[in-house]
Amino acid sequence: MTLVNRDAVAIWTDDKAHRLGFANAQAFADAFGLKPYRLRQLYRAATKELLGDVGDVTTLPKELRTELTDRGFSFSSVDPIVVQKSSDKQTTKGLFRLYDGDEVEAVLMEHTGDRTTVCISSQAGCAFACAFCSTGQAGFTRNLTATEIFDQARFFARELATRGRRVTNVVFMGMGEPFHNYDAVIGAVALLNDGQGFGLGHRHITISTVGLVDQIDRFADEGVQVNLAISLHAPNDEVRSSFMPVNKKFSIDELLAACERYVARSKRKVFFEYVMLAGVNDTPECANELARRMRGHLYHVNLIPYNTTPDGPFQGTDEQRIWAFAAILDKAGVPTTVRHNMGRDIAAACGQLRAETQPKAQRTTAVSSGA
Ligand code: SAH
Repeated sequence: MTLVNRDAVAIWTDDKAHRLGFANAQAFADAFGLKPYRLRQLYRAATKELLGDVGDVTTLPKELRTELTDRGFSFSSVDPIVVQKSSDKQTTKGLFRLYDGDEVEAVLMEHTGDRTTVCISSQAGCAFACAFCSTGQAGFTRNLTATEIFDQARFFARELATRGRRVTNVVFMGMGEPFHNYDAVIGAVALLNDGQGFGLGHRHITISTVGLVDQIDRFADEGVQVNLAISLHAPNDEVRSSFMPVNKKFSIDELLAACERYVARSKRKVFFEYVMLAGVNDTPECANELARRMRGHLYHVNLIPYNTTPDGPFQGTDEQRIWAFAAILDKAGVPTTVRHNMGRDIAAACGQLRAETQPKAQRTTAVSSGA
């Protein structure tokens, strides 16, 4: 099965049909007497023309627009409840409510030039309990559907369109573990990529995973150009297991073996994220050990300055030490970048905005063994 074969119109309409209580797109079409071309028209209006809602689709008969709206049909499955811009205006953070009251976050980053990146969530909460991550500390609520994931990007695409701009990159680095919601994430990729719809190239999409070995193999089999990023964060099992429970299930050796299989199969580079935690994983010894593991492969390391979370025990490594760490990797011939930190003043790191709006009791789920 490959992404290319997924029918984006079917994914989108089925998802909407489901939300209205119909079993599938066919039942939905039958209930409103919609011909297949009408479904495609709705789909195109939402995903390509980026219209606000069904009432704006002037090519549809007025009665049909009214009927669909009255029955609760809506173009967006995510409802923005807080939208904040950073003081420099380059970062916009959205908190979205889902139909059942759950909340997820997404972030728009506007870089210099034309480049824009939307960071989206794949789950409400997360089951993997990485100790440094706000979302991980809040526990898992539920999987998002493909449309709920896609609609976060659609929201920012509409916002950018008002200024003549577009979404050029999408990263699955918001709340949740994309490979723990594999089918919906691949469905969302199909929606993002569809040439008849949103039209974002696979190479402009990045999936970031905590490192689920079986799903990495599955992803390699998809045969697509979507970028793969691995949240490694440590050069050995002792350090990684101390703050990432998932490492007890898949060791670093097993994880890197899966990455090698992926590179062999896809001929694509793997990106490794490494969040810099003061006194935990940022020593020169860690850098040397990481360099030994990364060297000689089609790997790229991205060092991430840590965004301190409200009650967390971790502190970020200072900038000077981050650059010293980078220099060791660089000297060893490992392609390395240091992530530019955006949106600190609006709590733009994973799970932070939701943590601020929710009562504390709801976000102190114990760190447990991941999934
Ligand atoms: N579950 C996936 C994707 C979500 S997290 C994964 O683990 O990759 C996306 C990235 O943000 C991960 O690399 C994660 O480690 C990082 N991250 C989480 N909280 C952070 C924080 N407070 N500061 C900096 N990076 C953080």
